[in-house]
Amino acid sequence: MGNSNSKDGSSLEDFGIEYASAVESTSLVNIKDKYGLFIDGNFVESSSGKSFKTLDPSTEKPLSVVTEASSDDVDRAVRAASVSYEKYWKKMPGADRARYLFRIARHLQERAREFAVLETLDGGKPIKESRDVDLPLAAAHFFYHAGWADKLEYAFPQRKLEPHGVVGQIIPWNFPLLMAAWKLAPALACGNTVVLKPAETTPLTALLLAEVIRDVDLPPGVVNIVTGAGKTGSAIVEHPEVNKLAFTGSTEVGKLIQRSAVRRNLPLTLELGGKAPHVIFEDAALDQAIEGVINGIFFNQGHVCCAGSRLLVQESIADNFIDRLQKRIELLRVGNPLDKNTDIGAINSQAQLERIDQLVKAGIEEGAEVFKPSCSLPENGYWYPPTVLTGVQQSHRVAREEIFGPVLVVQTFRTPEEALEKANNTPYGLSAGVWTEKGSLIHWMTERLRAGVIWANTFNKFDPTSPFGGYKESGFGREGGMHGLAAYLKNSGGRS
Ligand code: NAD
Repeated sequence: MGNSNSKDGSSLEDFGIEYASAVESTSLVNIKDKYGLFIDGNFVESSSGKSFKTLDPSTEKPLSVVTEASSDDVDRAVRAASVSYEKYWKKMPGADRARYLFRIARHLQERAREFAVLETLDGGKPIKESRDVDLPLAAAHFFYHAGWADKLEYAFPQRKLEPHGVVGQIIPWNFPLLMAAWKLAPALACGNTVVLKPAETTPLTALLLAEVIRDVDLPPGVVNIVTGAGKTGSAIVEHPEVNKLAFTGSTEVGKLIQRSAVRRNLPLTLELGGKAPHVIFEDAALDQAIEGVINGIFFNQGHVCCAGSRLLVQESIADNFIDRLQKRIELLRVGNPLDKNTDIGAINSQAQLERIDQLVKAGIEEGAEVFKPSCSLPENGYWYPPTVLTGVQQSHRVAREEIFGPVLVVQTFRTPEEALEKANNTPYGLSAGVWTEKGSLIHWMTERLRAGVIWANTFNKFDPTSPFGGYKESGFGREGGMHGLAAYLKNSGGRS
């Protein structure tokens, strides 16, 4: 969809030039009519016979039917993981486990286009992001952890560690394949077996990954993938033979899971929501900062736990910065996620669209001013335009609650102390961004910001070697790097 109301020479349309559409072909993707549960190396039916549809959020057309795992099915999956742990995985040398992880990584690279198109169809994200971010990073996570599988004793010298056994993993819908990779790769590298549940609106790439796992001849039962919604997730959480839990999702569900894990003294990592401050000082390189802010909030439609959703801009440059930001937003292309020119794709589900809409309305009622560009949105599917709310007070809901959509909330500050106070005034603590030319100010801010990940003069940079995780209501535990590995090992007593 072109944006067309800026007639100041800043847009191609001002010159009567329109991008030709460049829609990625779907011919590589073979979506089945129905998918079973991946248990013990095979796709199987549910004991209950229940299923649900998964659809393309950009058209609302159903893509496939997916099996809903009952608690009996989850029990089958956990038992398969438990048997496989004892029979194969626990005994296998790290170098052999590494071979399987390398193979998975290579298959992901070889089938990258197919995976990227499927991710975009099922989730609504722009193809340029699934192709250039989700897929390369997912493969990188398997490569990185393959490298560790036979070196764990060097990663944690003088400690005698062992895997937990069966790990239960539950992931959200915003980065379906990438979150599966973040969870599976370290768990397998450390010698655990897994029962993983993808989110109910985006199960297809995890099921394609199950095919890869079968194709690389991973011993049956090492990875089991069960599909379903909260009830299926809860059956994993409550299963008595699961020895460790890893959850990425909302803070609300995270708290439920934490209660259950504490009751049973289960090791747990929680990667939850966020409301990241993105702080722009007056001396920052403004053009770069604007690109950073755009990427920070509109990447993946703002369905990003670490999205820079609260812009804190120094008062002296605020009017100029917001003006330039709005001009830049006019140029963003919202529409068909499969078009390689698209910047902002579809909202993942109707429920999420309603939540975004409700929160923006609440912001306006509380006194915020709203800016939306003049883009036209497709008739079918779930869409929300890139939106900026100014005149926001700290007490407003939009300044405190995670919107998880393409909505930027703007506040101003005068001094670094005020910026810091506002930045930290949130129940969350996942990420933050700081833009300034002064290295000393970057250090001053980063030492005091209560966020697990802080980017300086950039935003949304991810790397499997770098630990990622939150403070406060954003969760605990880290994924990536050696910190991420540590979560999948326990002390077996003594020293090596
Ligand atoms: P959600 O909590 O509703 O769902 C996440 C997963 O949990 C889904 O697979 C869902 O089926 C399952 N689930 C739901 N209820 C459950 C229950 N009672 N027991 C067990 N499992 C249950 O979250 P969502 O809406 O899918 O994802 C969005 C949230 O995830 C946002 O808050 C976002 O910030 C967060 N997130 C965090 C990170 C991070 O690394 N911190 C990364 C991505 C997303």
